[in-house]
Amino acid sequence: SKAKGRNTISFFDYSMQEAADRHLQLESNLRLALQEQQFTLYYQPQVDANGEMVSAEALIRWLHPLQGLIAPSEFIPLAEDTGLIVQLGQWVLSEACQNIKRWSEQDLTFRHIAVNVSAKQFQQSDFVEQVAAIVNNSQIDPRQLMLELTESGLIDNILQTVEKMRRLKKLGLSISIDDFGTGYSSLAYLTAFPLSQLKIDRSFVNDVTDNRSNEIVVETIIHMADNLGLEVIAEGVETQEQVDFLLQKGCKLFQGYYFSRPVPAQELAAKWLRKPNG
Ligand code: C2E
Ligand code: CA
Ligand code: CA
Ligand code: CA
Repeated sequence: SKAKGRNTISFFDYSMQEAADRHLQLESNLRLALQEQQFTLYYQPQVDANGEMVSAEALIRWLHPLQGLIAPSEFIPLAEDTGLIVQLGQWVLSEACQNIKRWSEQDLTFRHIAVNVSAKQFQQSDFVEQVAAIVNNSQIDPRQLMLELTESGLIDNILQTVEKMRRLKKLGLSISIDDFGTGYSSLAYLTAFPLSQLKIDRSFVNDVTDNRSNEIVVETIIHMADNLGLEVIAEGVETQEQVDFLLQKGCKLFQGYYFSRPVPAQELAAKWLRKPNG
């Protein structure tokens, strides 16, 4: 009936309004959080075949004064939509560089810290200048900084991407392709981009021991990386069986709950970072 239709429409409008309000609320909360420095970085170790830490990935957390720890899946998408990701990404880079600097001064050794860079952030025309400024200000060894990029942001403008990557590499940074295998699997750009690492997406690693097609995907990525002279790391490693399979296929770097969850910076330093010969 007409009345029912009207009700349905008004109910629909109401929930749309609610969703829009929540969206606005979260957006203003995000802006405030940036001002008030409510973000923090956790670090997840990346280990070798002996389980020793080689590097670590920085992962953002929002320490909300009322809601507690908020996972990135709750706010990164909105930060991307609103463009706040650019500012947030700059904060992440400078915070990671400050930690790198502190740990180096304490003689704690590691190869690099990997930082996630969103497509929108990477596509800023002055992205390389932003990174260079942050690296210079923090006075770190740029070789200790790796950027993790996802495939999605790289193929829009291949020439520009290649150019940016070359300049980043010239600065001393290295680049990893995150969630590898989930995006446009164009092999052409793999050889065009000056990459250091491929990171096998955790969806493939997850059931690699009981899914034959994932087994083949993982094996193929490892061989491909090998042939291209790229390092390969598996993320989302949760079991010994996964480690055994990956090792047998030639993967030598691992990241996942099996070894450690992401931990606060201080805990990384206390439990995972080592002094040379210490
Ligand atoms: P990602 O870059 O693929 O990061 C890996 C995610 O997998 C992290 O979730 C990590 O905690 C989780 N993880 C690690 N080991 C395991 C495991 O063994 N099993 C399972 N099930 N999960 C595991 P987190 O920290 O919630 O981050 C989610 C995503 O948010 C990240 O995915 C990344 O896309 C984004 N993100 C996190 N920090 C940043 C950041 O600083 N900047 C940007 N742009 N994005 C970020
Ligand atoms: Ca990542
Ligand atoms: Ca990933
Ligand atoms: Ca992911």
